[in-house]
Amino acid sequence: MSISEDKEKIYDVRYKVLLVGESGVGKTSLIRKLVGTATNKNHMNMLSTIGIDFVKKLYEVDGAKVQLEIWDTAGQERFRSITKMHYRGTKAVVFVYDVADLDSFTRLNFWLESIDQELQCSVEDTPPMIIIGNKSDLEDKREVPTERGEKLADEKLANGFWETSAKQGTNVHACFEKLAYTLTDTFSPKLM
Ligand code: GDP
Repeated sequence: MSISEDKEKIYDVRYKVLLVGESGVGKTSLIRKLVGTATNKNHMNMLSTIGIDFVKKLYEVDGAKVQLEIWDTAGQERFRSITKMHYRGTKAVVFVYDVADLDSFTRLNFWLESIDQELQCSVEDTPPMIIIGNKSDLEDKREVPTERGEKLADEKLANGFWETSAKQGTNVHACFEKLAYTLTDTFSPKLM
C-alpha cells in the first residue's frame, strides 16, 4: 500500500528506479501522476518543459517501508545517452513507450539494448525491469497492439508489462507498487 511521500529518512530500504524512453511518451506525466501533482492538462504540459531529477514514493511491502527514488530522464533522450549520474546505483529500469506512437515502441529496442552496457553489468545481472505502454486512453489512435508490448516483455524477460494512462491514472499506481514488491523480492528477501 502506498502510504505517503517521505519528508525525512523514514524508509527501511531505498531503490533507485530509472525511467527511460523516447521524448514525449509521458515519463514526466507518469511520475507526476504517481506523486499526485498532475492535476490537469496544462499542468502536465508545463511540467514537460521544466525537468526534474527524481521523485520519491514510499510503499509498505510486507511491513517494511520501501522507498522508490524514481529518476526521470525526460529532456535528455535526444542525446541518446543519459549521464553516468543517472545510471549510478540504478536498481530497476522502467521502459516507456506511447501506444499511439509506433516509433516510440520501435525505438524502445535502443534503450533495451543499451541498458546492460550503460549499467556496466552482465546480462545475468540486469536489474529488474518493466515495460510500460503509456497513453492507453488514446484507443482511437492506437498504433501498438497490446500483444506486441506483451511479446516484447516476454522476449526481454521483463518483470512486468503494463499499459497505463498518465492522463486518466490507469494502472499508474499499480505498476509502481508491483515494482516495489519485485525489488523487495529481488534484493531484500529477508528484509524482515
Ligand atoms: P516525456 O517527454 O516522456 O516526459 O513526456 P511528457 O510527460 O512530457 O508528456 C508528453 C505529452 O504527452 C504531454 O502533452 C502530456 O500531456 C501527454 N501525455 C502524457 N501521458 C499521457 C497519457 O496517458 N494520455 C494522453 N492522452 N496524453 C498523455
